Amino acid sequence: MPPTHEVLNQPPALAGYDVADDPAMLSAVHREGAGWALDGIGELGRLAGSARAQQQGRQANENPPVLRTHDRFGNRIDEVEFHPAWHELMTVAVKHGLHASPWRDERPGAHVARAAGFYVWGAADAGHCCPISMTYAIVPALRHDPGLAERFEPLLAAREYDFGLRPPEGKRGLLAGMSMTEKQGGSDVRANTTSAVPAGDGSYLLTGHKWFTSAPMGDVFMVLAQAPGGLSCFLLPRVRPDGTRNGMHLQRLKDKLGNRSNASAEVEYDQAMAWLVGEEGRGLRTILEMVNMTRLDCVLGTATGMRAGITLAAHHAAHRTAFGRKLADQPLMAGVLADLAIESEATTMAGFRLAGATDRAIRGDGQETAFRRLALAVTKYWVCKRAPAHAAEALECLGGNGYVEESGMPRLYREAPLQSIWEGSGNVAALDALRALTRQPETAEAFFAELDLAAGADRRLDQAVGRLRKDLSDPSEARARYLAEEMALTLQGALLVRHGDPAVADAFAASRLAGDWGHAFGTLPSGVDSDAIVSRATPAPTPH
Ligand SMILES: Cc1cc2nc3c(=O)[nH]c(=O)nc-3n(C[C@H](O)[C@H](O)[C@H](O)COP(=O)(O)OP(=O)(O)OC[C@H]3O[C@@H](n4cnc5c(N)ncnc54)[C@H](O)[C@@H]3O)c2cc1C
Repeated sequence: MPPTHEVLNQPPALAGYDVADDPAMLSAVHREGAGWALDGIGELGRLAGSARAQQQGRQANENPPVLRTHDRFGNRIDEVEFHPAWHELMTVAVKHGLHASPWRDERPGAHVARAAGFYVWGAADAGHCCPISMTYAIVPALRHDPGLAERFEPLLAAREYDFGLRPPEGKRGLLAGMSMTEKQGGSDVRANTTSAVPAGDGSYLLTGHKWFTSAPMGDVFMVLAQAPGGLSCFLLPRVRPDGTRNGMHLQRLKDKLGNRSNASAEVEYDQAMAWLVGEEGRGLRTILEMVNMTRLDCVLGTATGMRAGITLAAHHAAHRTAFGRKLADQPLMAGVLADLAIESEATTMAGFRLAGATDRAIRGDGQETAFRRLALAVTKYWVCKRAPAHAAEALECLGGNGYVEESGMPRLYREAPLQSIWEGSGNVAALDALRALTRQPETAEAFFAELDLAAGADRRLDQAVGRLRKDLSDPSEARARYLAEEMALTLQGALLVRHGDPAVADAFAASRLAGDWGHAFGTLPSGVDSDAIVSRATPAPTPH
């Protein structure tokens, strides 16, 4: 090698580190009742940070799925082909129960344990988390039909990844998808035109199109369609119980901005056989049970992306020198990194508080159900809105390297806007929060009861809560984003003040609550303990 090729001042590859070495997540897992799961979370964290998982994530995204509509003889097969790396990622996720473990685990905190696994393993690749999340989320909706739940839940919860077109009940494990969005309406699903006609044997025949159906290689789908009694929810198997392929034709796969390892299809249903779930005309209510679970994963997935971004940025800055000093030691860069770390920790704290609320709500806690209803909507709105700006700033910390695919940053950046679009886009999430506020006063009471737990601990928080109470006197639609943002910020502030690292909580209160802050990351007030904050996000390499 000529001497000009000596590589200087480039950071070592960040491989072989523990993704679960994440103080905000670890303390939240304890607090929310899943301390018993830490060994398993640690195992997944080390797996996610391994060179092997990083390679799998890269390969699955560089070799996106391919739709095979027909076999070579011209028969329709409607199958999606994946790179082996995708199957390996899915195998780990399913083996660790990220798709369903809490539905088979009576222990309090089971949903928190699963949330932590999802959060750390998601660092390997975001795309495959989509079918994992939908399989987790389908169960509460499916339970609207106890017979179908009895039939399919054990297979959905099985820890076996069994890919391929076969009748669901002949497989070792199942994966689920959700099929609501049509060309003329995604948010407004009441505009659905797919029809469901009773077949006379208790099942229905569905005919229509769906403009987005992710993970179409799943085994069963929750589908919305118009039955004689109105918009209804159906469970649709890709292969009928008799082994024949159902009338579910994949037209094409979307050419997406990011999320490229995952397949998202346009689907035509042609007299596709399906079973009614819940009552006719109550489809929206039923499928919302599923949507509400996936919304939690939108928050957790966003927290994963932010943590990955700040980790890569802090690692780079800890090793790269410019103008005679490490980047991490340059006061302005330290401020940028600290600001990114604060945003990431606040998102993680909120995500795990909501995972805990989910766990307790599912076990029948009414107060937590009411809290979750509102807190999830505002948090989903706000943290997903922050994700693209966070990813862009983290990318820039790597300079030109960050703009290059190999750094992993472009993948994070392309993924970042997605969580805000699906499961209720920004406006829809904000309006949903407003609906809860105005129509379900118990949700606001539960929300403020949570904020009250931090009362008196920080003057800036107290003032922000006072402002929020005043602002809520005008809950008009046009103000929905403003109010959702304010609510999300006070919730994050309250959690940080009560449970967070003192330096992080103080800087959050000064910037996000008291307004001593600019319009870009890296504009924290002076006096913030950036070193202490950034050290919580700088990964300690572990032996390979
Ligand atoms: C990668 C990807 C995968 C997806 N996978 C699935 C899937 O598996 N299954 C599925 O069913 N769908 C899926 N979707 C679809 C997704 O859920 C919808 O795109 C989303 O719900 C928005 O619907 P829409 O695209 O029809 O936009 P619209 O509903 O037309 O909304 C357009 C914009 O208008 C805003 N808006 C809507 N109503 C109002 C209002 N009342 N006031 C103010 N603003 C409003 C929205 O916030 C949005 O910004 C996927 C989408 C993507 C990008």
